[in-house]
Amino acid sequence: MFDPQRIRERADEVRGRIAAAAARAGRSPDEITLVAVSKTWPAELVVAAYGAGLRHFGENRPEELAAKRPLVEAALGPNSGITWHLIGTLQSRKTELAAASADVFHALDREKIARRLAADLRAAGRVLPVFVEVNLSGEASKSGLMMTHWEEDATQRAALRTLMIALQASAVLPPVGLMTMAPWDAPPDDIRAVFRRGRLLAEWLAGERPDAPRPALSMGMTDDYEIAIEEGATHVRVGRALFGEREAKL
Ligand SMILES: *Cc1c(COP(=O)(O)O)cnc(C)c1O
Repeated sequence: MFDPQRIRERADEVRGRIAAAAARAGRSPDEITLVAVSKTWPAELVVAAYGAGLRHFGENRPEELAAKRPLVEAALGPNSGITWHLIGTLQSRKTELAAASADVFHALDREKIARRLAADLRAAGRVLPVFVEVNLSGEASKSGLMMTHWEEDATQRAALRTLMIALQASAVLPPVGLMTMAPWDAPPDDIRAVFRRGRLLAEWLAGERPDAPRPALSMGMTDDYEIAIEEGATHVRVGRALFGEREAKL
């Protein structure tokens, strides 16, 4: 269960913390998009969160997004101004659902997925801006393009550049930036170091593609979004800090 008044208070608190973290880094809070992670919660929670001023929602499973989105649109109308972010890794047999229902995809990590998504998007007449997910910490549990040693490994950098160019060329999967996850249970300094390397990688990419818009950076969740903002995140994906603990039903 959830309480709309509680969601409003928590949204205000998270927005305040985002503004404070941005100020510490000399950044404007307007540069930061709060993606409210509504996975496992019902459409009614999204409607309540919309009432608290949230406009970006994140889901990690395409089937859940495809089921929830029409329910929210039935309640708020199709022109509510909500942007739906698919934030979780995508299996190749789910690309059609993702192409039909997501507005932004944060976890593109392979050319194979890109090819299938591009075909599905063309068939649907849609465009899906994507973040390329990069694995900076080397944790085996993490998905993402291996960029564990990108500073010294030209092969890793070349793989990222090649994927970016392929996405740009597809026209239906415009690459908007990079996404990364902090290592689990790591001390704050290690988390900060990973986020900093993500920003430096985005800066390297900007240098490689001087005509492209500055890459966005999707990094930071409930436990580390303030650190991520201090290190340059433009998109934070926050669930529990807004909505409380998810029931363990996944
Ligand atoms: C669930 C999830 C989040 C949000 O996690 P919280 O700890 O609830 O903030 C962010 N990103 C991804 C990819 C997720 O799956």
